[in-house]
Amino acid sequence: MDNLNADSPHTGHAAPVPEAAPSAAEVAPPAAAEAPPTPPASVDAGGSAPVAQEDAGGDTPRIVRTDEGAEDGLTKCARCGSTEISLNVASGNLRCGFCRFEWTAENALEAFDLNGDIGKLSGIVVGSGSSDIIPSVEEVLTFKCSACGAEVVIDTNNSTQARCHWCRNTLSMNQQVDNGAVPDMILPFTIEKASAVERIAKFVGKRKFFAHPEFRREFNASNVMGVYLPYMVVDINAHGRFTGQGEHQTRSYTVKVGDNDQRRYDADRYSVMREFDIHVNDLTVESSSDRLDQDTSKNSNNIINTIMPFDIENSVRYDSNYLSGFTSERRDSNLDQLTPIAHTQAADVTRHRVNDTLKFYDRGVRWDSEEVDVRGQRWVSAYLPVWLYSYQQKKSGGKTFLHYVAVNGRTGETMGSVPVHQGKLLLVSGIVQLFGTVIGLVLVAVGV
Ligand SMILES: [Zn+2]
Ligand SMILES: [Zn+2]
Repeated sequence: MDNLNADSPHTGHAAPVPEAAPSAAEVAPPAAAEAPPTPPASVDAGGSAPVAQEDAGGDTPRIVRTDEGAEDGLTKCARCGSTEISLNVASGNLRCGFCRFEWTAENALEAFDLNGDIGKLSGIVVGSGSSDIIPSVEEVLTFKCSACGAEVVIDTNNSTQARCHWCRNTLSMNQQVDNGAVPDMILPFTIEKASAVERIAKFVGKRKFFAHPEFRREFNASNVMGVYLPYMVVDINAHGRFTGQGEHQTRSYTVKVGDNDQRRYDADRYSVMREFDIHVNDLTVESSSDRLDQDTSKNSNNIINTIMPFDIENSVRYDSNYLSGFTSERRDSNLDQLTPIAHTQAADVTRHRVNDTLKFYDRGVRWDSEEVDVRGQRWVSAYLPVWLYSYQQKKSGGKTFLHYVAVNGRTGETMGSVPVHQGKLLLVSGIVQLFGTVIGLVLVAVGV
């Protein structure tokens, strides 16, 4: 047995068991539960690269039309013809404001066949509401009211609806225009405003002691707004192959070197290889450039990530009536900007799953190569529901910092950042260690 440390050469060591002849237990399970395990390929990959995929279809995306049959203008209640339609949050249905008739839009992923087996996904499939934004397309669009003929303006930055100021009918925009205002699907709110207000008040209440006095004075949970935030929902079918070296410790002991004791280890070094299929389902990526800006010196956008996940699979076909009473934010990022983000997240998921299979290598594994070959991907744009309480903190030098408390509009999961009263924070920092929970509370309050 030789003594190995992290830098020791590979040679001269007694009994390395190469992974080339793996036992069944050494085969990495696939990242997705539904995928069958991939048999490990021979370690000598010479020439037989499994990456080529004949039906990958190159880089030309296959577009799935998701606004088929959608009509702009007056969308009327099927029973009484009113255009006074809004979401009934309690039931998750659309409801006519006059006759109370209720109905719901079709499940989007089923309607467009966008939920098929990820393992069979190849090339790029894109919902038509996710297509590239053309900068010349106006954000403010003019519609002709089909009831009275008046011209009605819709500012697609904030809404896809407007009321005709002559006949009071509501005009809806459901057809997709290339400015990112109409997504492929929408996940309606199911958490009511009263419940959101309660959750925000409770969240802030727990942190009030440390909160900035101005924030405490101005705090009013009922100022919460329901916002549909734009996301891309991504499915990824990929194949991964990681190769490297891992060490398993066999003995540790102390030797005398001169007058000093030195700790030594014996370890076996192995060639480690993991090959597997990766199926990533419903990865969500922010598609508003404001939200993608995660500069924690200016904002606390990272908070939104902590109220995930959403039950994406229950999204319905887009209908702008779901938006009445809520605001929305337009998507302004395209696939080529978002693809690296999605692929990085998918690779992170993969690395995490692979780590679960490496417990034997208690002195670690170093990957020499990590190949992740994306064979298929599916992109669908969605509006996801979030209750937001925001607070613009004025800082010295005219700077501001945007704090907010966010409530997931489906699960009620709540997280936020509250401006901290620095003096009070210093005062209590001496005793903070006594209360483990308080530390967590302070970190959240600072927006870390
Ligand atoms: Zn009606
Ligand atoms: Zn009109």
